[in-house]
Amino acid sequence: MLTFAAGPSKVYDVLPQYLADAYAQGILSANHRSSVFMNLYQETERLMREKLHVPEDYQLLFTSSATENWEIISQSIVESASFHIFSGSFGKKWIEFAKYILPGTDGIKIQPTQVIDVPGLEIDEKFDLIAITQNETSNASQVKMEYLEAIREKFPEKLIAVDTTSSMAGIELKFELADIWYASVQKCFGLPAGLGLLILGPKAKEQTQQKGERGRYNSLNFILENAASYQTHYTPNVLGIYLLKRVLQDIPEIQHTDQNLRERMVKLENCIAQSSSLRLLVDHELSRSTTVLGVTGPEELISRVKKEAEKEGMQLGSGYGPLKPTSFRIANFPAITDAEIDRLITFLSKY
Ligand SMILES: *Cc1c(COP(=O)(O)O)cnc(C)c1O
Repeated sequence: MLTFAAGPSKVYDVLPQYLADAYAQGILSANHRSSVFMNLYQETERLMREKLHVPEDYQLLFTSSATENWEIISQSIVESASFHIFSGSFGKKWIEFAKYILPGTDGIKIQPTQVIDVPGLEIDEKFDLIAITQNETSNASQVKMEYLEAIREKFPEKLIAVDTTSSMAGIELKFELADIWYASVQKCFGLPAGLGLLILGPKAKEQTQQKGERGRYNSLNFILENAASYQTHYTPNVLGIYLLKRVLQDIPEIQHTDQNLRERMVKLENCIAQSSSLRLLVDHELSRSTTVLGVTGPEELISRVKKEAEKEGMQLGSGYGPLKPTSFRIANFPAITDAEIDRLITFLSKY
């Protein structure tokens, strides 16, 4: 079954080879204080710079998931409170985790079809961090880099944290526009779940040190102290990190992937535009995701399309949360081949 689910999503076809190599190379039993592991960590970070254009002064840290990163940010970085701009279920979960840790947390909810009105955006001084879900997987919307840039210019004194769980390694991110970026590997990295990535810029590291929070297993200062020698604060998911390194070695530089995903998305959108009964979930081009396509229609039709796709060996991603009955989602992730996208388009053209 070929899955177009938006996470966990299709893994790269070469994965069995990577797994066999991991076993043969003895990496699965490598001690995480050994040079074998430290070299693996260092090389993975170097590849993140080479392939995804992570700047030299931004540091790669390993966690267990994007969800864990929500907690780490509030617990270890935010001084008084974070201000969240969100449109869907993942952004809502983030603000809820943040509120639980820091009750002064607040934010605004926008529509998935709406872009952030930066000129009209007012954020009180008491908020020291702005939290943005760059790619809202639940409703297939995205915040384009130009909006991040405008927010950066308007609020230069505040930290910016960006959830790119379903866009990192899919689209080209301009890392210097924010201080904290994170993702999980089961989306655009085409890997099995169980590894979270957290990328910190210099301002975020400085504020973490100033805050000085420590004592918990995932206190960021503890993580950073270990990372200074390419180690981790606990026995990490070495297999996940090894697989990440192999994927990074094999993928093209991000601008090529970005271009390809954009072209594929236009083809998918055109296919839906020609349908008599299916519509795009986000009908505003400026806020539509590049990596996740959302399709909506009458409940009966959505369920029929999903069933008929399964008969042809394709699993469409279900709608998320409140959108479940009236939509399906398609992951336009790099591990899905162009031929597989074409096959899906042929199928969807019938409706
Ligand atoms: C999938 C997803 C998450 C959660 O990722 P986990 O690895 O399950 O913690 C968070 N944010 C967004 C935007 C996502 O797509």
